Amino acid sequence: MGDEKIFSKEELWQAALGEIELNISKANFLTWLKNTSIDSIKEGVVVISVPNHFSKEWLENKYHKFIFQALKKLISEINKIDYIINANAENKNTAAPEKEKTKKINETALLKEQLSLAEIEINPETNLNQRYMFDTFIVGSSNELAHAAALSVAKNPGQTYNPLFIYGGVGLGKTHLLQAIGNEAQKKEKLRVKYVTSEKFTEEVVTAIQNHTMNQLKNNYRKTDILIVDDIQFLVGREKTQEEFFHLFNTLYEKNKQIILSSDRPPKSIATLEDRLRSRFSGGMIADIGYPDFETRLAILKTKVAAHNFKINENILIYIANAITQNIREIEGCLTRLIAFTRLTKKEPTEEEAIRILNEVIKTPKKIFNIKQIIKTVANFYDIEEKDLIAKNRQKEIVKPRQVAMYLLREDLKSSFPYIGKKFGNRDHTTVIYACEKINDLIKTNETIKQEIGIIRERLNN
Ligand code: ADP
Ligand code: MG
Repeated sequence: MGDEKIFSKEELWQAALGEIELNISKANFLTWLKNTSIDSIKEGVVVISVPNHFSKEWLENKYHKFIFQALKKLISEINKIDYIINANAENKNTAAPEKEKTKKINETALLKEQLSLAEIEINPETNLNQRYMFDTFIVGSSNELAHAAALSVAKNPGQTYNPLFIYGGVGLGKTHLLQAIGNEAQKKEKLRVKYVTSEKFTEEVVTAIQNHTMNQLKNNYRKTDILIVDDIQFLVGREKTQEEFFHLFNTLYEKNKQIILSSDRPPKSIATLEDRLRSRFSGGMIADIGYPDFETRLAILKTKVAAHNFKINENILIYIANAITQNIREIEGCLTRLIAFTRLTKKEPTEEEAIRILNEVIKTPKKIFNIKQIIKTVANFYDIEEKDLIAKNRQKEIVKPRQVAMYLLREDLKSSFPYIGKKFGNRDHTTVIYACEKINDLIKTNETIKQEIGIIRERLNN
C-alpha cells in the first residue's frame, strides 16, 4: 500500500485519534483509547493494539465504525480492522490458563450462588427490610429531590409533606427510599409503620371481603402512624380497593398520620385513578427519580463492592457503569454475578472473565451517539437549522433548544464545559454551565421540557 510511506504508524494513529475524538465523549475517549496503537498495517488490514479486554470489547462493539471511518479517511485502501490485546500493556491479569479453569463454572452454579446472596430479612409486622437504609442510598442529581423529601418525612412524619408521592421508572430506587423512610422513622420512637405493595393491599381487601373481616382489616390499618403504599399504579381499575383505600387515606390524613406512595408515573398520568384520589395525592409533595448519571452509577457500584467487602478491578466497574444506564437493579445484578463467581472460584475475576460472565446480562452494548447526532436530533426536534443551533446568535426561539443540546452533551456524553462552549460558536464555558443548570432546574419543575428531553433521548437511542 503506497500510502504507508507517507504516514508512519504512529502518525497515522495520532491523526485517526484526532478524528475519533470528535465523535465520542472525552471520558469515553480517555477510558477506551488510552494506550492503544497501531500494531501493523498489511494489505488493507490495520491491526490495532489495545491494553486490555475491555478496550477490545468496546472498540469492537461500539467505536469500530468511528475508527474505521477515521482510518479510511486517511488511507482509502484500508478495508478491515482487527484488534489485538497487547500482552506487554499494563494489564497482565488475563493469563491464558485461567480461561480453562473458569469454563467449568456453569450457569446453574452461578445462579444458585447469586440466589444465596439475596438473603431476605423482612419484618412480618411492618414488611420492612433492614437492607434499605438511607446510609446505603447514593444521592445524585437524578434522585436528590426525592431523597431530600424522603429524609425530611422520615425525620418529621406527618408534619412536612403529606402525602409524599415518589415516582420513577423500574429499578431506580423507589422501594429503597420508601423502605428507608420506614426504617429511619422507627429508629427514634416506636412508630407503627406499615409498608405494603398495592397488589398486597388489593389482595388483603379482596380476602377481607370474602371472609367478612373488613372491619378487622380497617382497624388494623387505622392504627398505623406511617402508611407506605408502593407501586400505586396497580391499584387502578379496582373499584372496591380504591374505595377502601380512599377512606383509609382520609382517616389517616385527618389524624396527621404520614402517607407515602410510589408509582411509575405522576398522579396525573395514572389514567384510571379516581379523580378524588388523584387530587388527594396531588395535595402533598410529588418528587420524581430519574436515570442516574455516570458518576452516580459508578458510586453505587463502588459502595456495593465495599459493602460486600469485595475487591473488583475498577475497569470492570467502569465497564458496567457505562453499559447499564437505566436500571440500578440491573447494575446490582452484574455485581452479584461477579461476586457469585468470586465465591465459587475463590479469586477475583480477570477482565476477560468479567466480560464473559456479564455477557448474559449486558446483551448488546447500548447504542452510543455523538455530538453531531445530538445537534442533529435536537435541531430536528425543535424544527430549526443545525447551523442556527450552534451559531453565536441570540435569536429568542433558538435559546432553549441550544440549552437543551448543551445539557445533553454534558449529561449524556460527559463533554467538558469548555469543549461544549467551543462547539457552540466559541462560547465561554460559564455560558454552558449556566445553560446546563438552567435545564437541570427546569426539568424539576416543568413537565414539558422533561418530556421533550425524554423524547429526544429516545430518538437518539433508536
Ligand atoms: P424501584 O422500586 O424503583 O423499582 P428499587 O428501590 O427496588 O427500585 O431499587 C432497585 C435496586 O437498586 C435496589 O436493590 C436498591 O437498593 C438499589 N438502588 C436504587 N437506587 C439506589 C441508590 N441511589 N443507591 C444505592 N442503591 C440503589
Ligand atoms: Mg419497587
